[in-house]
Amino acid sequence: MSGAIAIVGAGFSGAVVARELAEAGIASTVYDAREHVAGNAHTERHSNGVMVHVYGPHIFHTNHERVWEYINRFGTMLPYNHRVKATSGGAVYSLPVNLHTINQFFNKTLTPAEAQEFITSQADNSIGTPVSFEDQAMKFVGRPLYEAFFKGYTQKQWGVSPTELPASILARLPVRFTYEDSYFNHPHQAIPENGYTPIVQAILDHPLIDVRLGVTVDPAAISDAEHIFWSGPIDQWFAQSFGRLGYRTLDFEQEVLDGDYQGCPVMNYCDEDVAYTRITEHKHFAPWESHDATVIYREFSRLCTDEDTPYYPIRLVKEKEQLLQYVQAARAATGVTFLGRLGTYRYLDMDVTIKEALEVADEFLSCHKHGRKMPSFVSDPMGA
Ligand code: UDP
Repeated sequence: MSGAIAIVGAGFSGAVVARELAEAGIASTVYDAREHVAGNAHTERHSNGVMVHVYGPHIFHTNHERVWEYINRFGTMLPYNHRVKATSGGAVYSLPVNLHTINQFFNKTLTPAEAQEFITSQADNSIGTPVSFEDQAMKFVGRPLYEAFFKGYTQKQWGVSPTELPASILARLPVRFTYEDSYFNHPHQAIPENGYTPIVQAILDHPLIDVRLGVTVDPAAISDAEHIFWSGPIDQWFAQSFGRLGYRTLDFEQEVLDGDYQGCPVMNYCDEDVAYTRITEHKHFAPWESHDATVIYREFSRLCTDEDTPYYPIRLVKEKEQLLQYVQAARAATGVTFLGRLGTYRYLDMDVTIKEALEVADEFLSCHKHGRKMPSFVSDPMGA
């Protein structure tokens, strides 16, 4: 091992911690099992020139100024406003649910106030604090919109009924009574001009950072490190001793065609009898480029096995009980800090991942300076 500090995972989490430590004069070795950096945010140009989000669509959006300034140091972020359409029951609608969706779906011409009153009349007002995904939908949009846009998609995406999923998953999406159809509310929304991988490469490009790709790290092999930052799956660190934590993985059916396939970057397919959840047309993520050819991904979700790339932590009751066992074991461990989507088993967006990695590095540097013990977690994995 060339650095006294070992960082496992060369996605945003690992790269940001390595960089912050390097800038404070601390060397590290960053390992990743894959042959590329950037984790699931990895991008690659197809031979026809289209920039492909290899592991599915990644749109950068944030309201954290520190994160926005940070990412802009390492590459050019171009403004990009994400808009999604949905096919449901043979018609195309605007998403997230907004005044256009409501008027299209119910074939009405409601004003914002009328739509709000109309949806309130559809909603289940007997639900206090929503616990499940279905409660959340029934409380905020009512049954018809829930069944058209959320029920089938969610069943396909998560492989279980929305009655079993936490409300927090749906709370990711806004419901609006205006024609604003931006998918995200955040003030900063952008995509890197040349994709995410060069940004992560730039973060890692420092003389005190040694990057080793294509290396699967056995925790025992790095046990002599002064400290380990683990952004791999938390259950992998413990050799899955409390059982394997459940993840969803994605399969992409790629097609390369001429012209414009669907006229938008992402079309969701909300009906349960369509096997895929969405189709991504990658060139629409780079409206500043022009391509005659196109690359599309049909996206299928399924349970992740040991051979697959994990994407989404499932976090149902069973997984949360298992997670608690891992978290308790992790809290008792010394010399290791868990971070990132896999390390803390949370559904984190890229900006939150960067924010938390900066906080992990801040904490480490502070502990280092004051001779305090570095905690196993800086963000609580038992949170939402
Ligand atoms: N969702 C849905 N219908 C849609 C889009 C999203 O039911 O048309 C639900 C689904 O459960 C999904 C969640 O909302 O997992 C979050 O959606 P988001 O677009 O944030 O998912 P991501 O892009 O992270 O996969």
